[in-house]
Order: sequence, then C-alpha cells, then structure tokens
Amino acid sequence: MTARLLNGKQIAAEIREELAARVTRRVADGKTRPKLCAILIGEDPASQVYVRNKERACEKAGIAGTVDRLPADTTQAELLSRIDGLNRDPSVHGILVQLPLPAGGNAGQGFDERAVLDVVDPAKDVDAFSPVNVGLLMQGRPRFLPCTPHGIVQLLDRCDCPVAGKQVVVVGRSDIVGKPMAMMLAQKTNMTNQGDAIGGSRIANATVTIAHSRTENLADVVRRADCVIAAVGIAEMITADMIKPGATVIDVGINRVGDKLVGDVAFDEVREVAGAITPVPGGVGPLTIAMLLHNTLLAAELADG
Ligand code: NDP
Repeated sequence: MTARLLNGKQIAAEIREELAARVTRRVADGKTRPKLCAILIGEDPASQVYVRNKERACEKAGIAGTVDRLPADTTQAELLSRIDGLNRDPSVHGILVQLPLPAGGNAGQGFDERAVLDVVDPAKDVDAFSPVNVGLLMQGRPRFLPCTPHGIVQLLDRCDCPVAGKQVVVVGRSDIVGKPMAMMLAQKTNMTNQGDAIGGSRIANATVTIAHSRTENLADVVRRADCVIAAVGIAEMITADMIKPGATVIDVGINRVGDKLVGDVAFDEVREVAGAITPVPGGVGPLTIAMLLHNTLLAAELADG
C-alpha cells in the first residue's frame, strides 16, 4: 500500500486565497487593512529567508507587512522598547519576533527570549506564544492558535483525516509545536478561531500521548498511534517499523541533510505502511505561514471590527 499524499502546499494555497478574499472584502467595506510587523535581529540566513517568505505571503494576501531589521548588537532593552512602540501603534495588528534570537546578541550576554515574547501585547501576539494566549488555548477558548499546530488541524480536517476517539502520538513537546498540538487535539471541540468554517469536533477528542527524548520504547509507543505527529528535529528518525499500517503520519520536522531538506520521518519507507502522509517540503511548512496570515487578519478583526 502506498500512502495518500497530504498536499500541504495546495491546502495552504486554498487557505491563503480564502484569506485574501476576506481581506479584499474588509478593505472594500472601508475597514483597516491588516498589518503585520516582524522584528528580525542579526544576519542569520535562515531567519532572513523565513522573514522574506512571510513578507511575500502577506503581500499576496493583501496584508501590509513590514520588517524591522535590527543589528546583531541590539540590546535587550532596545528590543523591548521597539516592541513597546509596536504595541502602542494602533495601525499594527500583529507583531512577530523572528526566532531564534542571535545567541551572541544583547552585548554578548544573549537575549532573554521568554522576557521578549512576554512583552508582546497578547492582542497582537499572532504567533500565540504569550502566556495569555497559551492559557486561553489550554482552557479551550483560544484567541490566537499557534500557527504550526493550527495548520495541522486545518490539514487533517480538509484532507478528511479525523482523529476523534483515535490514538494520536505527538513526538516532541516544544512550546511551539508539540505541547499546543497535543492540547488542541485533546480538546472537546475543534480549536478554531472565530469566523472559521471547520465544523464539528472531528479534529479533537483524540486520546493523545506526548513522547519526548526520555520516552522509553519510543517505537512501541508510536506503533500504537492511528495518527503520528513528528516534531523532533532529527532527520528520518521515524521509520516504517514504528508505524501502524494505515496510520496518518504528519511530519513537522525540517532538517537540512547536505543540500536537501528532509523531515523527521523516513518518507520513502513510511509511505509504504502509512495510510496518509505529509511530504517535506510541501507539507506542514506552507500551512504555518498561511495560519500566520490568518492570525493577522483575525487580530485586525478583533481590534477594528
Ligand atoms: P525543539 O527542539 O524545541 O523540540 C524537539 C522535541 O523533540 C523535544 O521535546 C525533545 O524532547 C524531542 N526529542 C528530541 N530527541 C528525541 C528523541 N530521540 N526521541 C523522542 N523525542 C525527542 O523543536 P521544535 O518543536 O521547535 O521543532 C521540531 C522540528 O520541527 C524541527 O525540525 C523544526 O525545524 C521543525 N519545525 C517546523 C515547522 C514548520 O512550519 N514545518 C515549524 C516549527 C518547527 P525533550 O523535550 O525531552 O528535549
């Protein structure tokens, strides 16, 4: 059996079109154009590419996107003050601090990343990293959903891969992917924001296991899963022998091996066992950006109607 390919790129394009139409309608109605401000510190090539991609995606969706490019020697105090300025600017709906912050920044002492993320106004926190937004998600009444897990919920729904009542194993427990992913799939209803069309609770009500680097017998744990979500950052560590036949396999990992990007899943062998699988690239990655645009539009709707 060869698994069905879950085409994240195509679904992201659909979502982006839907968002662009909503932006066009709202501007035609005389409402504000959503605006996202990214802060990029230093010269990290990967971060520059990510920010440029986000800028382009904003432009295509009719969202105003600006990038505050700060030098690598920016101090923590200067960065906090810059964020404060954006918090106070009513024309800015979303603020994104591109991670990782440069290790040698803040006069060689390194940034206090948590303190930086904590000062972003929760109403503009389109990455959904602030404790307020994490707390709201935890309580099942989210404002913004974190972009990567939300993209995966959209993918599962739009590709008709329900998880209700099923065993889901999330490998990885980061604040950005693993933990919120597990939380969203374990809720009683689909964790979508206001104005979204996902109905019912098919992409919720899962029995979720979170695995991590201390998990014993990882292969046995993963083999129980009807749906595996791999968010580890180790190239091709999820192999075919770990997969229950017919399972849905979502690969979040992005790992550079030579000049190739590969996921956390050994794609070629796992696709022979799985029922459905995301490729890398072209799977989860494009959805992450689409959901960032979604959150920026939502921030504008919540702020300005
Ligand atoms: P982190 O490094 O923050 O977390 C990795 C997690 O994997 C940790 O919880 C860690 O466990 C766990 N882990 C490490 N080694 C093992 C192991 N041998 N067995 C089981 N679990 C293990 O990574 P992120 O969550 O930020 O990212 C994960 C991957 O997803 C990366 O490749 C990243 O590039 C990619 N990514 C892709 C995105 C996209 O849009 N497609 C968005 C965000 C990330 P422990 O907690 O015990 O250390």
